[in-house]
Parts: sequence; C-alpha cells; structure tokens
Amino acid sequence: LQPDPHGSDPHGADAHGFKRRGMLFVLSSPSGAGKSTIARKLLAADPDLAMSVSATTRPMRPGEVEGRDYHFVDLEEFRRMAAADEFLEWAHVFGHRYGTPRAQVESMLAAGKDVLFDIDWQGAQQLFQIAGGDVVRVFIFPPSMEELRRRLSGRATDSEAVIEARMARAANEVSHWDGYDYVLVNDDVERCFSGVRTILCAERLKRSRQTGLIGFIRRLTR
Ligand code: 5GP
Repeated sequence: LQPDPHGSDPHGADAHGFKRRGMLFVLSSPSGAGKSTIARKLLAADPDLAMSVSATTRPMRPGEVEGRDYHFVDLEEFRRMAAADEFLEWAHVFGHRYGTPRAQVESMLAAGKDVLFDIDWQGAQQLFQIAGGDVVRVFIFPPSMEELRRRLSGRATDSEAVIEARMARAANEVSHWDGYDYVLVNDDVERCFSGVRTILCAERLKRSRQTGLIGFIRRLTR
C-alpha cells in the first residue's frame, strides 16, 4: 500500500492495456440504508472489483456464511491478529470488534483488482490515513429517518428499545458523513447503484491512477 511514483506496481491493465493503480473503495452507511444490496450489485457487475471480507468478534447471524460475510473469530484470536499487525485497520463497533485483514487486500491489489470495503466511519478514516489518495470514501444515506425506522423495525417481535438502539446507531453513523468524498441518498436502489458505479468509473479514470498511461503518452507525443 505504499505509494509508487514510478508506476511499476503490478495492477491490472484496462481494456487498452494500461496499468492502473488499484484503489480502496469504501462504502459506509447506517445499517438499513441498503448498502449491502449496492455492494452485491457492484460486485456482480464488475469483475475488476473484489470484496474485502472483515474479521469480527460478533456472533454469526442466521443466513450468514463464514468467509463470505465475515471471518467469525473469538476475542482471543482477534487480539492475536491485532497484535501480529494482521489488520490494515480495526475498530470497536457497537460492542464488537471488526477488522480488515491486511494480507487479503494486498493480494487483491496485486492481482489488479480494486477493493470494496463495507466498513464504518472509523475504518474509512484509518484507511485514509494509511493509503490517502488510493482511498475513495462513499457514504449512503437512507431516504429519511422515518423510512430507516420502518426498515429497522424488522420483525414485529422487536421491542421498542431494540429499535431505538438501532436508530441511535444509525444517527451516530450519519453524523460522520462529512468524512466522505461522495454522498448519495438511497431513495431508489437502481439510481443509487448507478450513482455509485459512476463514481467508481470516474475514479478509475483519474490521471493520478493511470500510471501506465505515461508510456502511452510518451509514444504519442514522440
Ligand atoms: P454488522 O455487524 O451489521 O455486519 O456491521 C456493523 C458495522 O460494522 C457496519 O457499519 C460495518 O460497515 C462495520 N464494519 C464491518 N467490518 C468492518 C471492519 O473491518 N472495520 C470497520 N472499521 N468497520 C467494519
């Protein structure tokens, strides 16, 4: 993840054969804003994007799969990984620990992929401190707090206190929106998805990422 001013890093070539610096594409939102749907659609639509799978100490939820949604580890293993510097970043989120395994991200970048992260504002901040211009931070807002409450109400068996706690978490996440490069409102999944895709596409075309373009331009202007 060190900056490479000479453009000799082994990122994949695009359709024209140009190498490009890989980027760390961060999606954050309060849960219930539809971020995981957007992430799933992006991954399905884009073969050059790979998902960073975090490690977490929180218990597995029904429907989740080890290694796909998270690496579910106990506190002891999480602490060992943190002490061994195996995380690119990690944070406490609502009583549990979540961390991004470093090795996976490095191998995805080395394979020429851009890496997609579903991490919170603390993770976005830490990645930005480490990798600066290689990080693109996108925040997704729910259409309204009323709509979010409706989505977070979930099962009818959830108590008012549980729903209130989810709303408080959401309000906390939303309060960090100013630490992001892009903000979108998910009032329509297709529109939001197309917005996020456009950001990804535009960011890939940034001059600063087109390291392999230098040789091409030299040949053109010779
Ligand atoms: P959940 O438990 O609902 O899957 O996730 C709770 C929150 O933790 C979400 O906001 C999610 O984006 C965040 N999160 C998941 N993995 C990581 C990680 O590796 N690092 C950080 N900082 N946050 C994470």
